[in-house]
Amino acid sequence: MISVTSRDFFEMHIEEFIISSEKVAHVQVGNSAEHALLVLTKTGYSSIPVLDSKYRLKGLVSTSMITDSILGLNHIEYERLPDFKVDVVMHSPVPSIHINETFKKGLDLLINHPFLCVVDDEETFLGILTRRVVLKQLKKHMYQNNE
Ligand code: AMP
Repeated sequence: MISVTSRDFFEMHIEEFIISSEKVAHVQVGNSAEHALLVLTKTGYSSIPVLDSKYRLKGLVSTSMITDSILGLNHIEYERLPDFKVDVVMHSPVPSIHINETFKKGLDLLINHPFLCVVDDEETFLGILTRRVVLKQLKKHMYQNNE
C-alpha cells in the first residue's frame, strides 16, 4: 500500500525535475537534415526536439529518421542530405507532458519513451523530462522511505 509520503511524492509537480530548454540540444524546422545529423552525432543523443522560431515544439528528429530518408537501394546516399529540411524527416506528434503535470503522470508516460518534451499551454518548449532523472528520483525516494 502507498504511504501518505509516497502519495505526496507522486503528486509532486514535474517542474523541479526537468532539464530546462537552454540545456537541451535542439534544431529548428528550417534547418537542414545535414545540420541535424551533425548535432545528433556531436551530442551523442538518440533524438532531439525540433522547434519553430517561436520556440514551439514541432517534432522529434533522430539519426535513423535522417538516414532512412536518404536510403538508396544499395547504400546511404549522403549526397542527398542537403536536399532535406528537418521538418520533412522529423516525426510528430511528440511524446510530451504539460509543465503542471505530476511526477506520477511523467512516470506513466516514460514507460514507453526515454524522454518527454515539456510544454506549456501554448506548446512552447520548456525542457525535457528524462526516464533517467525520474528513475533516479524514484530510487532516492524508495531508499529514504526504507530507512
Ligand atoms: P539520458 O536519460 O541522459 O540517457 O537521455 C535519454 C535521451 O533524452 C537522449 O538520448 C536524448 O534523446 C534526450 N536527451 C537527454 N538530455 C538531452 C539534452 N541535454 N539535449 C537533448 N536531448 C537530450
